[in-house]
Amino acid sequence: MSEEINKVKSESKYEHSFEYIRRKLEGKKDSFGKLVKEVIRTGVCTHCGTCAAICSALEWDPIYDEPRLVGQCSGCGICYNQCPRTITNPEQLVGLFKTGYVTKSGIPEVIGGQDGGTVTSLLCYLFDENLIDGAVVTKKNPNKPWVPLPQLITTKEEAIEAAGSIYSHSQTVDSLMDGIRNDMGSIAFVGTPCNIDAVFKMESSPLGMLKYFMRAHVFKIGLFCMDSFSHEALLPFFEKEGINLAEITKMDINKGRFYLYKGDTEVKSYKIKELDKFKSSSCNFCTDLAAENADISVGSVGSGPMKNTVLARSGIGVEIIEDAIKKGYLLSEPFSVENLNSVLFLARLKKVSQYTVLKRKVFIVKDIDREEPFKPRPELKEEAEVATPFGTRKILRVTQKLNESQTATTITIENVIGYLLENLQIRVAIVEELFEKRPWSTTIKEIFPFESIQINYPLEIKDGKHVLGEIIIDISDSHRKLFFKKYSLKPKEKKSK
Ligand SMILES: Cc1cc2nc3c(=O)[nH]c(=O)nc-3n(C[C@H](O)[C@H](O)[C@H](O)COP(=O)(O)OP(=O)(O)OC[C@H]3O[C@@H](n4cnc5c(N)ncnc54)[C@H](O)[C@@H]3O)c2cc1C
Ligand code: SF4
Ligand code: SF4
Ligand code: SF4
Repeated sequence: MSEEINKVKSESKYEHSFEYIRRKLEGKKDSFGKLVKEVIRTGVCTHCGTCAAICSALEWDPIYDEPRLVGQCSGCGICYNQCPRTITNPEQLVGLFKTGYVTKSGIPEVIGGQDGGTVTSLLCYLFDENLIDGAVVTKKNPNKPWVPLPQLITTKEEAIEAAGSIYSHSQTVDSLMDGIRNDMGSIAFVGTPCNIDAVFKMESSPLGMLKYFMRAHVFKIGLFCMDSFSHEALLPFFEKEGINLAEITKMDINKGRFYLYKGDTEVKSYKIKELDKFKSSSCNFCTDLAAENADISVGSVGSGPMKNTVLARSGIGVEIIEDAIKKGYLLSEPFSVENLNSVLFLARLKKVSQYTVLKRKVFIVKDIDREEPFKPRPELKEEAEVATPFGTRKILRVTQKLNESQTATTITIENVIGYLLENLQIRVAIVEELFEKRPWSTTIKEIFPFESIQINYPLEIKDGKHVLGEIIIDISDSHRKLFFKKYSLKPKEKKSK
């Protein structure tokens, strides 16, 4: 067989396999763009070249030492699914589970559950069946509205009273220990994944307290959790916004927004991004969405309004759910691939956030006049790029974007060179004709590879209005000028339909 025929044959066989996997991945939307965002731009790419090796639309770029799109990407996601740094295995994303369910409460007493009222209905079942002596829940503090109050309860009426989610850390283990010290033999424990991890560690680590006690069985009901907020910061913010927290009956996070309700009426909602600064710092380092160490895990994602997604992980977890369904405490629907895929999608967002933790530093310029004076260093040589054996490559990626209210511009500076940059001197100023105004400068001691920092530079106010003029951004380190550019500030053009 000629070389030519051999090539065509092997290509067609390869393409057949490629097409087969492409069809399997249809609808998953794991495109090359996602690989760029999660792996390449975050600096966790191992430079193995697998993505470029498997797809003809990709090529290895020797200058930037990363894959580069050279053809038409169909968005099939095959590259994403071969990369050793993406997390695609369901077990890695949500942990092991035996059965999945979509459920909601089947008993009329449970009203005011956060989603389907599954957790509260399960607690009612456990009390009615005498399977537990007590349960650990988290209530709203009656004296400090929306501050979480962990509690050890002994009746289903108390469980119903404690329904609903409070999006802040709750010291639930303290209440669990109260139960154990009071000789309770069987306790249901409701908690976020980090709460569940604490109990799991106490039960399973070599010197775990619960391992050596062997006095109580703890049935762990985990809540799905993407993040929580520091109540010391979030609640005063809401109060400043004129919200009377004592009147708020429900808080909810749904599709990237945080909602506050009074009864059925929405009082206010915020983009989650706006509230990011109030997020508990520990949550930036958390990778467990689905309470992987619980007996059962309950959330809302993947199941639609007023319902819950439930993952039963342990044998006892399955038995309890099945019996609660049989006895009418829970109503259930079949658990489908679509339900699971939604959970996997969110779990992956959370797992890959570990790669971007370093990118979360935000510098806010509050008072321009008080910043350190800039010492110009004109002798510095301009060196925005460095030479590699294959060509030159940029050191920094700098972008500038006006905020929605057009009161400030956000400057993002990313180290794209792959090694530490030290003593970065950054200067921002407004340019009016030939003169500079309102200069602001700072020195950043170090910026790690692929780390980015953000600076919010407030605009000048004239006659009560923010002025959209021109700004310059000037960045150097101790040896060279790394970046200099003038920008005209323009509002983002709205896309026409
Ligand atoms: C901080 C936080 C973040 C969450 N993020 C997500 C998410 O991103 N995606 C998702 O699908 N689901 C999330 N959930 C879970 C969701 O809000 C519901 O708790 C879950 O769907 C169960 O609904 P339910 O109707 O069965 O709850 P309910 O029947 O109302 O029962 C909720 C139980 O949770 C307890 N509880 C309330 N607040 C806390 C707390 N802070 N710590 C420990 N226990 C508490 C209550 O005491 C009650 O027993 C989050 C929950 C919390 C607390
Ligand atoms: S076409 Fe190639 S680059 Fe695009 S998603 Fe598929 S494998 Fe990745
Ligand atoms: S497969 Fe992943 S780790 Fe390997 S080069 Fe491509 S992006 Fe980098
Ligand atoms: S995001 Fe993680 S650390 Fe934060 S409350 Fe949820 S489980 Fe706990």
